[in-house]
Amino acid sequence: MPGEFALIREYFQRDLKTDAQQDVLLGIGDDCALLAPPVGLLAISVDTLVAGVHFPLESSAGDIAQRALRTNLSDLAAMGACPKWFTLALTLPDSDEGWLREFSRELFACADEYHIALIGGDTTRGPLSITIQVMGETPPGAALRRDGASADDFVFVTNTLGDGAAALALLESRTAFEDAHAEYLRNRFYRPEPQLEAALKLRHIASAALDISDGLVADCAHICAASGVGAVLDVEALPLSEAVQSLPLEVAREYALSGGDDYQLCFTVPPENMPELAMLIARGELQATLIGRMVVGAGVQLLLDGEPFFVARKGFEHF
Ligand code: ADP
Ligand code: MG
Repeated sequence: MPGEFALIREYFQRDLKTDAQQDVLLGIGDDCALLAPPVGLLAISVDTLVAGVHFPLESSAGDIAQRALRTNLSDLAAMGACPKWFTLALTLPDSDEGWLREFSRELFACADEYHIALIGGDTTRGPLSITIQVMGETPPGAALRRDGASADDFVFVTNTLGDGAAALALLESRTAFEDAHAEYLRNRFYRPEPQLEAALKLRHIASAALDISDGLVADCAHICAASGVGAVLDVEALPLSEAVQSLPLEVAREYALSGGDDYQLCFTVPPENMPELAMLIARGELQATLIGRMVVGAGVQLLLDGEPFFVARKGFEHF
């Protein structure tokens, strides 16, 4: 069994030349990494995934690695930032080489796909948890923040909602799905697609944006609070995948509204930018659905057939 340093060298240290980023002057192996700071703004975010809380205990090492990095990349996407570097703090119950090999293989597969370089980290013993800090770059003034929405802006979401919650129901054996749907959902859970390309296209179109991790209603409420406006969302407009559509409508809607784990973007668009957005959607360059409108007021209001609609659970909170 390798010691701590041999383990780091074997599974996490790579030739810098193989990494996507050229501005790492010194990577893994010294007390700090040395980076050439970007010309624009540095966007930084950190997230921890705890076994049994953020992923089922029986998840494979590769699935955990993919999910950990992708959910962090989603935060960069939500800011309209381009991925640059990340650090990894790994707490492991033991140094299982098979586990580490698979973890590191999938971690780097994902890192290479999204052009982000691993520049350092920490390795400790304890209950399995993965903390990843991502760093990205955004030109000054281009970041997609939560506080830019105004009354009358249109509200959109990318792709489909409710897949994260449906996947969890599948993984926890609470709901059975036909094979094709089960495979789709498992993939959505372990390999959510950070909406980086969509975000770049929205930089000069959206007035506010975030990624949906806790559920649409809870997350849209963050845009409302930060921007000092309200939102009215149309429950019938929610985009649902075929897998989620196979559920009873009531369940599908609850998952889409408050399920969480979707990692889609919720963004607002001022009326004057709508033609440009419509063009992107029409050309197939962006997959997004209009779900509502920002209004004078506060909080998120849901409508179904023009009548107020209420969800039992607003979104996920740890405490
Ligand atoms: P220190 O004791 O100075 O904090 P460590 O022994 O924690 O250094 O780590 C040695 C080197 O290995 C550092 O460059 C650190 O960034 C890197 N490192 C440690 N664990 C990991 C990991 N899981 N992934 C990537 N790099 C790591
Ligand atoms: Mg250390």
